[in-house]
Amino acid sequence: MSEPDPSETLFERIIAREIPADIVEETTTTLAFRDISPQAATHVLVVPKTRYRDVGELAAADPALLADVIATAHRVADLDGLVESGYRVVFNTGADAGQTVFHVHAHVLGGEQLGFFGR
Ligand code: C5P
Repeated sequence: MSEPDPSETLFERIIAREIPADIVEETTTTLAFRDISPQAATHVLVVPKTRYRDVGELAAADPALLADVIATAHRVADLDGLVESGYRVVFNTGADAGQTVFHVHAHVLGGEQLGFFGR
C-alpha cells in the first residue's frame, strides 16, 4: 500500500468546517454532504473522516471504516426516500475513472432513473 499524498484535499477542509458544504449526515467516522455539481436529483458524497487516497487503500487499511461509509450511504439514501426506488453508490478510483479528489468518497446517486454508465 502506498503512502497517502500528504497534501491536503478540500474534503479535509470540509470535514474541518473550513469550507462550507451542505451536510446531510454525520457520524463519528463519516461525513455526508451534497455534491456541489449534482449529476442526479440526489447526489451526495460520503467521506470517512480519516483520509485514504481511494477505496482500495481504505479497504486494505480499515475495512470497518469502509463499512461505516457504506452504512452512511444507505442512511443518506433512506433520508432522501430512495431505498424503495433504488440508488447507486460509486467510488471513482484513479484517473481513468475520473477521480479528482484523492480523499476516498462514495457518490450516492438517485431520485430519478439513472442511465447506464461506462464509456
Ligand atoms: O469522483 P471525483 O473525485 O471526480 O468526485 C469529486 C466530486 O467532488 C465531484 O463530483 C465534485 O462535483 C465534488 N465537489 C464538491 N464540492 C467541492 C468540490 C468538488 O462537491 N467544493
